[in-house]
Amino acid sequence: MTSETEISTVPQSVDDFARRLADVHDRMRMAAEKVGRDSSEVRLLAVSKTVAEDRLRNAVAAGAHELGENKVQEAARKHQTLADLDIAWAIIGHLQTNKARTVAEIASEFQALDSTRVAEALDRRLQALGRGLAVYIQVNTSAEESKSGLIPEDVPGFLKQLRAYSSLQVQGFMTLAANTRDEQRVRSCFRMLRRIRDEARDSDPDLVGPGGLSMGMSGDFELAIEEGSTVVRVGQAIFGPRPAPHTSYWPAAFGGHRAD
Ligand SMILES: *Cc1c(COP(=O)(O)O)cnc(C)c1O
Repeated sequence: MTSETEISTVPQSVDDFARRLADVHDRMRMAAEKVGRDSSEVRLLAVSKTVAEDRLRNAVAAGAHELGENKVQEAARKHQTLADLDIAWAIIGHLQTNKARTVAEIASEFQALDSTRVAEALDRRLQALGRGLAVYIQVNTSAEESKSGLIPEDVPGFLKQLRAYSSLQVQGFMTLAANTRDEQRVRSCFRMLRRIRDEARDSDPDLVGPGGLSMGMSGDFELAIEEGSTVVRVGQAIFGPRPAPHTSYWPAAFGGHRAD
């Protein structure tokens, strides 16, 4: 029922989206139960990149009120076109500092923080607007060069540097697992993020906020939940397949982590 056939069709109507969302929530619940977790601990972020506004209206009507985008310009356009709807926008892709202002204006969270340059740029804009922003620190747990994120060893020092940017409200850590069918390898990425979180909590409990773990996508969210995820970022399992990525736009097969 969950499966590839269903994923290969493109949902359009409110009913279609209601079914997709119910299916993903069921799968989340089963994964949580498998390891004795309560699925209410896990938030579903619907990744709406490349999905046009008319379909997004139906997805929102079906209950998806938190949407994730990886490109700032596309997010800004949708934020404007869909301003009449109740939507919280998450930016989940790598950010160039010249887009920090837009993110400060439209986003309710930023999940790909991995440099003090971006932290500084965001903080300056946020201070000017008098608002805060929920952020997740992105860590590269797969050692794949195409992926953004801090190397694990740099996390403790980075957390301490973030103290200087008081508008940034650290929620925890984010990662993309290795792009492979090897389940053990995928799990090891998730486990690494969890260990990084646990160690940071031990050494700097005041710097990690609630210590959330944003991990898991359409292909691996059940594994991520088994390994402790508190936010899954699910695109294709809700919206159907995306148009084939152009390589310069999406550097890796999963890619999608460029925000500029
Ligand atoms: C595109 C994207 C996702 C969702 O991927 P799906 O395979 O569509 O579920 C999750 N996280 C990030 C950072 C992305 O860019």
